[in-house]
Parts: sequence; C-alpha cells; structure tokens
Amino acid sequence: MTHGPREAGRISDLNVGDLLVRDDIGTVEVTRLEKQADGLITVHYKLNGSPGELRDRWPSTHARFHRALRSANISTDNESRHAPSAAPPQRMADRAVNQYQRAFHAWPILTATAAARDTIPYGDLARRMGLHHRTVGYFLGPIQEYCLEEKLPPLTILVVGKYDRRPGAGFRAWDVANPEDGLKLVWGYAWQNRFNPFAFAADGSTPEDLSERLIAQPDEAENIYARVRDRGYAQVVFRLALLRAYNSRCAFCGLSLNVALQAAHIVPWRVATPAQRMDPSNGLLLCSTHHSLFDAGILSVGLDRKVRCHPPRHGSVRAWNSTDHQIASALHQCTIQEPKEMRLRPSDEALMYRQRTAPASE
Ligand SMILES: [Zn+2]
Repeated sequence: MTHGPREAGRISDLNVGDLLVRDDIGTVEVTRLEKQADGLITVHYKLNGSPGELRDRWPSTHARFHRALRSANISTDNESRHAPSAAPPQRMADRAVNQYQRAFHAWPILTATAAARDTIPYGDLARRMGLHHRTVGYFLGPIQEYCLEEKLPPLTILVVGKYDRRPGAGFRAWDVANPEDGLKLVWGYAWQNRFNPFAFAADGSTPEDLSERLIAQPDEAENIYARVRDRGYAQVVFRLALLRAYNSRCAFCGLSLNVALQAAHIVPWRVATPAQRMDPSNGLLLCSTHHSLFDAGILSVGLDRKVRCHPPRHGSVRAWNSTDHQIASALHQCTIQEPKEMRLRPSDEALMYRQRTAPASE
C-alpha cells in the first residue's frame, strides 16, 4: 500500500492482461507488448473489445487510451521511461478500478429502478454507466455485500439477464429459485430514506485510503466520519485503521488471525461523538472473543493500561472452567499491547468514560 501521492507508473510498467478502466471511456485491456529496435514500446490493446495499438510516442487518435492511462496514473510522457524507478508498480487493475466508486454511481440507478417497480438488464445498467457489461458483476459485489450486512432487501436482484430476466451467477443474496418474493421486498422498501452508502467513494476514495488518512491525521476523524456517514462503512474504515495501528494483533492476547480481529469502541458507538466514532484513540483492536468480553464488562482496561477481569456479579470465577480462566481471568493485570504511536493509543478520556459507565459486573 502506497502512502501519500501515488508515484506515476510508466508504459514499461504495463503487463499483458492489465485492465484500465475509466467510466467515460470503458475498458482498455492490454493484449500484447512489443519492444521495438528504437527502444520504444508498442502497446496492443482492446478498447471495449475493439483492437488497437500504439507506440509510447502516440498519435492523437489514441487520445482515449491516453486518457485512460493518465487516469490510471501511468505517465504518458516518454521521458519518464528514463526517470529513476519509483515504488514497484501495483497491478493496474488495483490502481485503476474503484468498485466502491462505481457502486456509488449504480446505487441511485438501482434505487430508482426499485421505486419504479422495475428490473434492469445488465447491458442497460452498463450503458447508463458508460461501462462494458462484463464489468457490472464487480461493482454489484459491494452493493450485494452491503445489503446482506445491513439486512436490507436484496437490491441487486433487480439486475437481470436480458432474456431470462433472472439475476446473474454472482447473485447469492436471495433464493434464486424464488425471485418474486425478493423483488416484492425490494420494490416495497423506502430506499429514498437511505442515503447512498458509497458516498465516501464519490471522489475515488476507498476504505483503505480513508483508513490511511485516519492513521496519518487522527485529528481528521470527524471530517472522515462526515464523509463516510454510513455506519457499516464507518466501521470498515475504523477497523482498517486499527489493524494498521495495532499491527494486526489483538491488544489483549496478541492473536493475529485477521478474520477474528474486530474494532472495539471504548466510548460506545451509540453515545460517541462523530469524532469518537472514528478516532483511533477511542478504539481497541480485539479478537472477537475479547471484544465480546470487553463489551460485556467482564474485561476492562485501567488507566495503567492493564486488563482487569470482573466476573459476572451473579456468577463466580470458581464456576468458570479452565478455558474460561485461560481466555479471561488469566489476562487480569496483563498490560495491553498498544500502538507504537502515542496519538493512536487509547486515550485516558475514553478509558475514564468507560470506567464510569462500566456494566454492573463489578
Ligand atoms: Zn484476544
């Protein structure tokens, strides 16, 4: 992951199979690269499926390809071939395509389709977005995930094959044998009352970009929260930031298995200010078990940054089995593992709030 302004790539960084995508152009696929005797490179490509080629001293007829390269941050300046090599090039597809940004553009089209109690063929959706129809599946992914995660009706069920009027192969948000009930739910839902959950990507930002900003400038937490707004994605960005801050390890036990690591709020989300909802100093990266025990008040963190174990009032540590002890009471008085950077560590203010409002387990 690069930090700060991205280094420009070069024609010589291109690989066969790279996909450059720009909403107003379509999809450019690099099909062949040929180094010429004079050192220049001829790039063979397909622009939305039609073949073309250019040398890196290109004619203006290739202006569209040129623009696609520029938006992928590939320098179109011949001289840059001789510039000192920058960071290793990322795969073009990673760099050029932001599926969240496309989801941002697709969301209003889909919700309007729902309001009209209609469906929309893949090809039509692609055309309205200026894209190749084969790209649709990729940006429907985040929308489908979002609806599943937020327990919303399966919005992506509206995107159907032109002839069979059924959702495509990637669709798994509803029983495909019975699309009618799913359609009814989607059509009956008041989508106009929800703001676009992908608004954070309107300018091309990804959750990764925002989490990097959060780590670099924790003071920006409130602004970043205002950008994200949607609770689901705020949580995604917050977690990514804490994964960086805590070097992907549970602050209590050191577990580093990514799938089990979660972002815990010290001042809980529902009472947190906008800044506290995003500020790494109001967070702890915890494994899912320790997150649950922290939220239940069975484990807490003192101002000395040591874990305290508080058995439930009506239970007794004596009733705990050996695993309970290993996971919970053995941590009593252990010092938590904090981020290296001071400003990313849990703040006294947040820890004191938590102590004052601890659940009744003490
Ligand atoms: Zn843990």
